[in-house]
Amino acid sequence: MKKILIVEDEANIREFVVINLQRAGYEVLEAGSAEEALEIYAAQKGSIDIALLDIMLPGMDGVTLCRTIRKEDSDIGIILLTARTQEIDKVGGLMMGADDYVTKPFSPSELVARVDALYRRVVRSGGNSGFSEELRSGSFVLNLRSRTLHHNEKQIDLTQVEFQLLEYLMSNPDTALSRTGILSRVWGEDYYGEEKIVDVNIRRLRMKIEEDPSNPRHIGTVWGFGYKWNG
Ligand code: CA
Repeated sequence: MKKILIVEDEANIREFVVINLQRAGYEVLEAGSAEEALEIYAAQKGSIDIALLDIMLPGMDGVTLCRTIRKEDSDIGIILLTARTQEIDKVGGLMMGADDYVTKPFSPSELVARVDALYRRVVRSGGNSGFSEELRSGSFVLNLRSRTLHHNEKQIDLTQVEFQLLEYLMSNPDTALSRTGILSRVWGEDYYGEEKIVDVNIRRLRMKIEEDPSNPRHIGTVWGFGYKWNG
């Protein structure tokens, strides 16, 4: 069963989300606050595939909740719900470990499409025989079976989206990859969001793998086009 946790204090919005996700085949757990969400999360440990977090919550806010959950779990998919007036970059939610965000007000079909797209990314695509098990580049080893990254023998924790992004980059060394191409490859052809999500994830990935993230050696920027893995 595809399991999703929705955290939203406004009961009518929460209900609307729950109904639409249930219709789309998800088992939905709901919480009205971050504190309640953490209790549910602890009780359900490991079995929640995706968390949908409203940013504005009474008590602990959604961004702090996002960071707290991400610290525990690098596999879970996290989508933030933001009001139109909140600039997601200012809020910093994506840097705190979210994979995507949806701006309010949203249509049920848009929300479900975004959740479906992320679900496909976070659920392991097991049994991929025929592919090589590892991608190696310099001192980086990306293990496609265990979905882990090691750099100089040290493991670096990646989210599932970061992993797929890096897999795509490392599979195409020294090749300029367009933001549009990265978007459809990693987020899916039917992704409704903006290309900015690519930049945010690259920035986060650089903070994890680059010695000097502001002067990256491994993930290069191809100005006005996209990014390149320097193999
Ligand atoms: Ca709210």
